[in-house]
Amino acid sequence: MTQQDTYGPFEVDQQIVAKCRYYVGQIGGRFYELLGKERKITGVRCETCDKVYWPPRSTCGRCFSMLGEKDLVVIGPEGTLETFTRIAYEEPVHPKKGPLIYGVIRLDGAGSGMAHLIGGVDYDALKIGMRMRPVFNRDPKGTMLDIDHFEPVG
Ligand SMILES: [Zn+2]
Repeated sequence: MTQQDTYGPFEVDQQIVAKCRYYVGQIGGRFYELLGKERKITGVRCETCDKVYWPPRSTCGRCFSMLGEKDLVVIGPEGTLETFTRIAYEEPVHPKKGPLIYGVIRLDGAGSGMAHLIGGVDYDALKIGMRMRPVFNRDPKGTMLDIDHFEPVG
């Protein structure tokens, strides 16, 4: 079998891994500082729309108002599990070795949920609507993984 029998003329199986570094912005920097040093999870509230974004962002996605540190609000730390899935395979983009459970957790006071790792529980025991709490990393590094994972409350 030749390569042409296996692949079409313009198809190549390839995996691209791109490691990058970017500036998180002033509000993002404050978010990671509060998360790592004070173990506080913050969102940013648009006063016009009364929507709280988590993680914080510098522009409201609805009305395009500029948001800043004055708009930061402490949210959570507990929240509600909105959905979840199990990842059985390993990929370089995953922050930990699999199998993994990812969930979308809407923290109390946040206007939307955000995906993060779930741990300390069997997949089959998870239920949408469960109350979740963060487990903070003992060695914060200024990343979203300063929250190591979320686990069920109680
Ligand atoms: Zn707004």
